[in-house]
Amino acid sequence: MRKPIIAGNWKMYKTFDEATEFVEAVRDKIPSEEIVDAVICAPALYLPTLVDIAFETDLAIGAQNMHFENEGAFTGEISPAQLSAVNVDYVIIGHSERREYFNETDEAVNKKVRAAMNHGIVPIICCGETLEEREANQTEQKVEKQVKAALDGFTVEEVEHMVIAYEPIWAIGTGKTATADDANTVCGAIRNVVEELYGRDTSEKIRIQYGGSVKPENIKELLSKEHIDGALVGGASLQVDSYLKLLEAA
Ligand code: PGA
Repeated sequence: MRKPIIAGNWKMYKTFDEATEFVEAVRDKIPSEEIVDAVICAPALYLPTLVDIAFETDLAIGAQNMHFENEGAFTGEISPAQLSAVNVDYVIIGHSERREYFNETDEAVNKKVRAAMNHGIVPIICCGETLEEREANQTEQKVEKQVKAALDGFTVEEVEHMVIAYEPIWAIGTGKTATADDANTVCGAIRNVVEELYGRDTSEKIRIQYGGSVKPENIKELLSKEHIDGALVGGASLQVDSYLKLLEAA
């Protein structure tokens, strides 16, 4: 049995006060870490403060992106060493918005996953197809290519600890969710890729989330599917009530 993991992706939302008030409001209401992994991926600016507020609770704090180098002349970037020094537990890597607006390539995603693993930060590796790709029946091909590139060059032990998020781009922030069956099919295809690369044991251990307009009303059905082990949630993770409902469903 894989433990579900529900991660909020706040993107570029919330002021400092809104962020701290949210974490203060939820931190003592999070279900036990033994049942579900609860994560909030916040804007980088707030990470050390939120880590402090969530200290010794069942809520984990994650980043939304990072560079793959530890330090250097990369104006505006944040390194894995800097994230791990403030005790960030997770990092989203290769979100479709990063790939689309910030030219993040499969190669950069692979380097970032390497860097996250080197620093003991759990990567949430995103993949997903565009609407055109889905309509052209290229979904599995696209996702397989992204996953193979991201997972290139790791050990079995490393891969077991990673999280993959399948997020069809056309479902992100649009209110359109993939049907639970369609999402499960693609998550199953991802698990097959992991099996092909790293063997059956590892493919049974790695957790695969679905993301794209997940909300309290649809999460139960998604999580009831064999290959869906959690959710990466944007919009519905911004309100205390709906975030807690997502966790309850898990
Ligand atoms: P959404 O975003 O839940 O608002 O569709 C998901 C994501 O981008 O991770």
